[in-house]
Amino acid sequence: MDERRDSRPDSESRPLIAAAASELAPPQKAWSAYVQHATRCHTCRSRDGRCSESEQLYKAWQAKADDAYRQVADGQSARPAR
Ligand SMILES: [Zn+2]
Repeated sequence: MDERRDSRPDSESRPLIAAAASELAPPQKAWSAYVQHATRCHTCRSRDGRCSESEQLYKAWQAKADDAYRQVADGQSARPAR
């Protein structure tokens, strides 16, 4: 089978993804960066693949998510910031 996909130029879809990501919350941005890497990286796409960059992106997402959870927890248990 031929794999030509003339109807979807990749170069035109990327700026749209970047524009959408810029309006996301920090944990969503971090997750988006991780997913975008994992879907494009040759190593990460292989069966057992996980490269050091994806590890860093994953840890960055965990840190952002932890911060967000902490903020939500603080907001529920304590008074708003002075
Ligand atoms: Zn990778």
